[in-house]
Amino acid sequence: MSWFKRKDRPKLVDPGEEKTVRTEGLFVKCPGCEQMLFKREVEENLNVCPKCDHHNRISARERLRLTFDDEKWIEHDGGLASTDPLQFVDTKGYADRLKGMQKKTGLLDALITAKGEVGGHPAIVCAMELDFVGGSLGAVVGEKIARAIERAIQVRAAVIIYSASGGARMQEGAISLMQMAKISAALARLDEAGLPYISVLTDPTTGGVTASYAMLGDLNIAEPGALIGFAGPRVIEQTIRQKLPEGFQRSEFLLEHGMLDAVVGRKDLKAFITNSLEFMSTNGAKPKAEGRG
Ligand SMILES: [Zn+2]
Repeated sequence: MSWFKRKDRPKLVDPGEEKTVRTEGLFVKCPGCEQMLFKREVEENLNVCPKCDHHNRISARERLRLTFDDEKWIEHDGGLASTDPLQFVDTKGYADRLKGMQKKTGLLDALITAKGEVGGHPAIVCAMELDFVGGSLGAVVGEKIARAIERAIQVRAAVIIYSASGGARMQEGAISLMQMAKISAALARLDEAGLPYISVLTDPTTGGVTASYAMLGDLNIAEPGALIGFAGPRVIEQTIRQKLPEGFQRSEFLLEHGMLDAVVGRKDLKAFITNSLEFMSTNGAKPKAEGRG
């Protein structure tokens, strides 16, 4: 006689009836604290983790939405597209790569420029799209930023640039490097006109973008935990033959070492920018406009 008798297990799910619960797409795993979170909860929190404050990357359009008053803006130069000046081919032809990226992002290149109001102040905002060839700086991005700055001078508006970039676009060779000088020269003219430029560095801001306009703001502010640097840590370690400290090339480290003016969370960013514009326009924070001699 056996002690236990194996009975047929009751069927939990009637195979004829579909009782599966759909959870796909409902949850996301936070890259910061690795907790499973409600996707909607994260999205409602401006794509910042409510548990650990990890700032997820967001699109250029989302940036504009979070910046402009009443989410209203007029886009400029949306029709500019790269002409593949070098007929560049790596693992794939650059022209084909561009087509694929344009389809994926709905943008012709890695930046949106637009005019509107920020906290009641006229402003021209440029937002980089990381999903477009790694947010790289090519001829179109350079031209759009330069035009945005010139337009700001014409209409007496502030300039705000959100950087998110892997650096210069190698498929455009020296033409992409020239953009660094072109934008820097335009920013010098903005400075002479006594108009403010606020640079917002988001995760990641690297290479030629860090080496030019991202670090040229009257204020250089960054989101928490953003990777900001010129060369990658491995290249630096190999060059200086030293181990790099922890947190190297993150916003907080750069703030501590005087490379940034502030690290501001996404929720407070608009208020911070508005206050800064307020200060710059009323307190004569840019006295060069009248006093330069
Ligand atoms: Zn988290």
